[in-house]
Amino acid sequence: MNYNRMRVVEAMKLKKAIQAIALKEAENPGEEAEPPSSALLEESNAPAPSLLFPELIQFPNSKPDRTFLKIGARSLQFQRKFFPLATTADWNSWEWQLRNSITRWQALQKVLQLSDDEVRAMADESGNLPLRLTPYYASLLDANDPLQPLRRCVVPVTAEHLISCGEAADPLGEDTHSRVPGLVHRYPDRVLFLVTGFCSTYCRYCTRSRLVGDQNKRHLNRDQWDRALSYIEMNPDIRDVLLSGGDPLTLPDSSLEYLLSRLSRIPHVEFVRIGSKVPVVLPQRITHALVNLLKRFRPLWLSLHFTHPDEITPETAQACERLADAGIPLGSQTVLLKGINDSVPVMKKLMHELLKIRVRPYYLYQCDPILGSSHFRTPVEKGLEIIEGLRGHTSGYAVPHYVVDAPGGGGKIPLLPDYYQGRADGDVLLRNYQKKTFRYPDAEGTQP
Ligand code: SF4
Repeated sequence: MNYNRMRVVEAMKLKKAIQAIALKEAENPGEEAEPPSSALLEESNAPAPSLLFPELIQFPNSKPDRTFLKIGARSLQFQRKFFPLATTADWNSWEWQLRNSITRWQALQKVLQLSDDEVRAMADESGNLPLRLTPYYASLLDANDPLQPLRRCVVPVTAEHLISCGEAADPLGEDTHSRVPGLVHRYPDRVLFLVTGFCSTYCRYCTRSRLVGDQNKRHLNRDQWDRALSYIEMNPDIRDVLLSGGDPLTLPDSSLEYLLSRLSRIPHVEFVRIGSKVPVVLPQRITHALVNLLKRFRPLWLSLHFTHPDEITPETAQACERLADAGIPLGSQTVLLKGINDSVPVMKKLMHELLKIRVRPYYLYQCDPILGSSHFRTPVEKGLEIIEGLRGHTSGYAVPHYVVDAPGGGGKIPLLPDYYQGRADGDVLLRNYQKKTFRYPDAEGTQP
């Protein structure tokens, strides 16, 4: 069979696969669709045209959004080198990115010079979280440096298999506060709704690694969504719903529309938040269609998950610009990670870059003690040192709240350096960012 003929056969098989998925979705509207990647890979056994990635399929399955995106120089170079048959439209298609995600170390080895430790970690598949990263995010990794911050975030190492004292699969006790599957009701007025267990890229330090990535339980079906929605409907105290997972923005537009429209019809739900890393690891997903959909359900807030300034690329900036232009407020949540972002200069740069793309730094999280996380965790003093290095030394907007999520379900506890230094003669003693002490004539001290 010549090469062109192979492409035609491949395209026909893919078309059949897509029709089968569409049919399945039409027949079972209650069932969440599989991510395009796995569904299509299972359906097609035809030889793929890439020599470097013979196991991957190089054809798009949807109309690309041609207005998106300007590809950054680094990604462009990567795409030309490792996906030479992919068109710009392919690369800009989020389905193509998911379908061609790297999920096996043998594929990762083709784009990175893997260390022995990384290979050992991935060959031993007993870890919590499988491997998965989009070609886009892979393009940001340093091929030769296993200690590069972004690479450490997504490439497993053997330290993941070491369980240290105090670590737990569910350190925040989310499962014990789960009233119906997928719904965590810890605070009286708000709920965490885990709508999917799938992410386009798995972070090695993920708090929910017990839930995400598991082939058997990664998808909540619509019956489970409906049970959670009914719970919200029946509890008038709930005014704020956070959609999380997994990553909600990996769901198809139709599923997001279903969830958001159901929530918008509940009178006591004042607004919805979505927690997502998609604009960072799969910015191609932020299509005009998605933005227009989200816009219909304002007030809607997005909590984005940024880790390092190197994640802020032309693509990510464009994705955030689209969302911000649509009137969707963007906040960032960053996990403090040893050797990745645990210094004042790196954190300050990240916060400054976020403000430039209209994302407000919101939380700086102490890394949760999930199983096998000791190589990521810093002492709490490190977080305080970073806040001390930001507050007063840069714009207030660039200073996030540093919080520890209390083990066992105690909620977020904010931590601040000791700016309050007590009282003297009725005055309050306060320390400023330059470590100078000032007296404040407090009301209690000045009253007759
Ligand atoms: S994007 Fe969030 S939920 Fe998904 S793996 Fe990363 S930290 Fe976990």
